[in-house]
Formats: sequence, structure tokens, C-alpha cells
Amino acid sequence: MYFSDLPGQETTKTQLTDLFKSNKVPHALLLTGLEGCGHLQLALSFSGLLLCENPNETDSCKNCSSCKMFEKFQHPDLHFSFPIHLSKTEHSEISDDQRASFIEILKDFKCLGKKTWYSKMGNENKQGVIGVKESQSILNKLNLKSFFGGRKLLIMWMPELMNVQAANKLLKLIEEPPQETYFIFISNDQSKILPTINSRLQNISVPKMIDTEIATFLKTNFQLDSALAEKIAINSNGNLNKAICAHLESGSSELNRSLFVNWMRLCYSRNIADTIDWVNEFSKIGREQIKDFISYALEMYRQCILGNFKLSMKGLNESEESFLEKFKPFVNHKNISEINSVMNEAYYHLERNANPKILMLDVSLQLYKLLRK
Ligand SMILES: [Zn+2]
Repeated sequence: MYFSDLPGQETTKTQLTDLFKSNKVPHALLLTGLEGCGHLQLALSFSGLLLCENPNETDSCKNCSSCKMFEKFQHPDLHFSFPIHLSKTEHSEISDDQRASFIEILKDFKCLGKKTWYSKMGNENKQGVIGVKESQSILNKLNLKSFFGGRKLLIMWMPELMNVQAANKLLKLIEEPPQETYFIFISNDQSKILPTINSRLQNISVPKMIDTEIATFLKTNFQLDSALAEKIAINSNGNLNKAICAHLESGSSELNRSLFVNWMRLCYSRNIADTIDWVNEFSKIGREQIKDFISYALEMYRQCILGNFKLSMKGLNESEESFLEKFKPFVNHKNISEINSVMNEAYYHLERNANPKILMLDVSLQLYKLLRK
């Protein structure tokens, strides 16, 4: 992620590159703005610039060995700190324990929202924390010499979720960091950052992104056509993260729909050879996607029941509606409770690492019987 990869936000980019050019980069910088305003991308781009061996006035060179490592999130002098779900048993105590997932989601989404991150860790409703062990880990890392003898950086995403003990432990380091050590904090809500931390940071406020910039970002990074990108951008209210999630969710709901239609046809026709092929292909999509698919299927069955009772089916798109119109008689008061149990049990076993192939074949065979009830 370089400055040139984020459309717009010229004022903030100039503020940052001016600090760089005039050699006045503060040791503790805070970028604040609403979720999805691009502050995470700006912080990343700025770190790339600070680490680059051959930067120009406005961006990194994108060519030096440092830039190459930075692009792959492998630069050893760039550290990340972010809220996690603390769990000793699951070995999740400091940000580095979740680093691989964090980087993976940054690469996939090119952006990051709180809910998206929590859901990646397994529970979108559980608040993450930056705890005291994380502060100790930061102290350990930043007190070491930098790997390449140049700058050392720490990007902290959502310092507002640092607890008091963690903050107290970091105060001195933020106040008097070792030579060539820089903190870049990214906050969605500056008012929630502990005052002792907040008072030590130099703040730059980042405005919301504008629709055309969001549309450009979607077109460049997700290969959307103009009309769709613009439609999503208008509904995103200046939140790049919301726009990306909306795009990815619509993609996954289309995938779920086509999987569901094919699967139900196979189960109704009791075509065992094709069902086995379908299950083999299907199980390649990964456990999280399969869980998402099961939730989707449960919702489709619920819609069938609504339809059977002449209640309006809500929240469906056109193609779902036309399929369910034909399919709904096969899900009815005689089989719905058994279908629900079969699907819920499948979900339960998937969460406990059941083999998806064996599981989904078994579910299919049960549906063979149930759909004919
Ligand atoms: Zn470079």
C-alpha cells in the first residue's frame, strides 16, 4: 500500500509528506477519522515512505529491497499492534499471536473495520483489547536495535481499546522513544483514547472519503465495473470499509445462492454420483465459507416457510425469489423442524473440526429423505 494506491485524501497526504520532507516527523503521530476514511491506508503508506531507501518527495520508490519487503508485510522493522480477543488457552495474548490473520485480512480487504476483524477472530460481537502483555511485547521489540539500522516503526490500530495498565506501561516509551523509533496510531474515536496517551500524540484529522474516490478504489482493487462501483460507493456514506464489505458480501451471497440451488436440485433428484461430485468441489471453499453457507441455507428454508404461509419473503434478491417460488412447497410444516436440526447439527460439528466432505455428504443423504416428506 502506497500513497498512490489510495485515491484522494490529498490534504492529508500533503500534511504527511510535508512532515517527511521537512524532517519533522513526530515520534508519536495520531491519525484520527471515522472508520473507513482511509487513515489505515495512509498510515501504511506513510510507514512505507519512512522505511524506503530511495524515496521521492511524495511517495516510496516501490523498488528498493525495503519497499519489496514492506509490500509483503514482511519488513522486520515495521511492527503492528491491534486489539485482540484475549485467551490464554487459545494462545492469543499479544497482537503477534494473531499477526498472520491480521495480515491476511489486510491483504484480502485492503482495509479493515472493527467488526470484520472481530469476526475473523471468531466472534464479531466480542470487544477486542490491547492489554498489558502487548505493551510488554512492544517494549521488548522497540528497545531492540532496528534490523536494518534505519527507522523502527510501530503502527497501532485502535489505541482507544488499550486498557489502563497497558497504557501506563507504554507512557514512558511514547514520551521518550529510542532513536529513530516512530509510533503511528490510527483511531476511529479520539475521545476514547486515554488522556495520558492522547496528550502525547500529534494529531492529524482525516476527513471522510468522497464517493468518486471510493468508486475508483473499488474499480482498481476489486475489478468492479463503473456502474456497480458507483452504486456501492453512494451507499457507503464515505466509509471505504463499508463499501468493500458490501461488495464482498454481495459476492458471497451470489456464490451461496448458486451453491444452494444446485445442491437442492441434487438432493431432490437423489442423484448420488453428482451429489458426491458436488460435495467434493464444495468442501474446497473452506470451513468459514461452509459455515456461512449453512447459515444461508437455514435462512432460505425459513423463507420457504414464510412463503408457504403466504407471508412476504423479505430481503431476497430477484433470483432467490424466483427459485424459492418453485422450491418452497418442498420445505413445509412436515419437514422443517428436522431440516433445521440437521443443518444446525452440521454447523455445530463444523465448528468442532468435523471433516466437511463426510459431513456434507451425510447431510445431503438426510435431505434426500426429508425433501420428499
Ligand atoms: Zn523504496
